[in-house]
Amino acid sequence: MRINLSVERQTALGRICKITEWGTYPGSVDIKTPAYLTYTRVGHIPNITWDVYEKELKKYLKQTQVFQLTLGSFYDSIEAINGIGMKDFCAMPKDSILHLTHHDSLKKIPANFNTTKTMALWAKAGRRSIDPTMYKKLVKACQVHSFVGLNDFDTPSEAKRKRLGKSLFRTAEWNNEMLGIKSLDGHLDGLKMKQENDIDEAPFIPLGGGFSKEYRTLTVNQMLQAPYATAFAVDLWHVSLGNVDGKEKFDLEVVKNLIGDVLMALPPEAPRLVEGAFDPSQIWNLVKLGVDLFDSSYAILLADKGQAFRIGDNYWKTGEFTVMDLKNEEFKEDMDLLYSGCECHTCKTFKRAYIKHLLDTKELLASVLLTIHNMMEFDRMFEVLRNSLAIES
Ligand SMILES: [Zn+2]
Repeated sequence: MRINLSVERQTALGRICKITEWGTYPGSVDIKTPAYLTYTRVGHIPNITWDVYEKELKKYLKQTQVFQLTLGSFYDSIEAINGIGMKDFCAMPKDSILHLTHHDSLKKIPANFNTTKTMALWAKAGRRSIDPTMYKKLVKACQVHSFVGLNDFDTPSEAKRKRLGKSLFRTAEWNNEMLGIKSLDGHLDGLKMKQENDIDEAPFIPLGGGFSKEYRTLTVNQMLQAPYATAFAVDLWHVSLGNVDGKEKFDLEVVKNLIGDVLMALPPEAPRLVEGAFDPSQIWNLVKLGVDLFDSSYAILLADKGQAFRIGDNYWKTGEFTVMDLKNEEFKEDMDLLYSGCECHTCKTFKRAYIKHLLDTKELLASVLLTIHNMMEFDRMFEVLRNSLAIES
């Protein structure tokens, strides 16, 4: 099963696509891209319950929700999850579309623990090592509709050619082993052996290569040969705002150089996902380069820091946005609503000074209110992008 995507418009600011099927999700879906996957931790949107989601968020959100499950955040409970799936285990909304990814992008992701046979995963109780056989079982146990393939992601800017080569080799081998095609020997094409493939859930194949344009190109060329590679996850962990070891600043020219040609090389109908926390301007630039799907961890990253964001009036043209840090003293007596133009529950009800007071007194309600606003704004940002791509040339 695949993610069924068709391109509706290609413009200088990015592309607008329509997704009508999402892996093994029964029935059709209606998702316009650019879009986001809703970041979850331990099977819920951080800081809010599913009840609050239903009452204060869901009815206002413009896009169909696809929930991004972060394996590291709930791996320790996998025994309990096996048999009932994540949706029932976490009391998620019925009809939830579920996507599985490895890392919790806002938690620390240490370097140097992947091996030839296994990818390191960081769970609450420490490091776990996942091999293709285990990962297949995990995808089944969680009862998701899509997932990101295993990825030897440890390729910071100082990674040498040898390490980059190893990363490409391991990632290709792991995905081949899991997804059913086993090549006995690279130069004995006639001897390619097909295994029984019992994974119906749609894989997003990782496209790594670190900070080397050469290895980015080698990776995409290699992965495109795999028959199961119909959707892709472009690996930009090391320039995301999360907490991966070896993290670097997001330098647009560097990113363009690394992934511009990679995105051009992909078939038009292949969905392109970039996971991790990216700010509105970075997302605007990645959309321009041809990325379709993101995740909403940025909204939570800010809420956890006591911050709210708002995109500018010209966001669609320039990527501009502002961040309000509610911990600042200037808000102590500010009786304005959080953002007067926003329609969310928080902005319609609560004053800046009150949110600052909640933060000062370490009341959990502060994170709840900021999560509601940031999620609404994140959703609106994508709607603005889609609307502008629909009319601009
Ligand atoms: Zn708001």
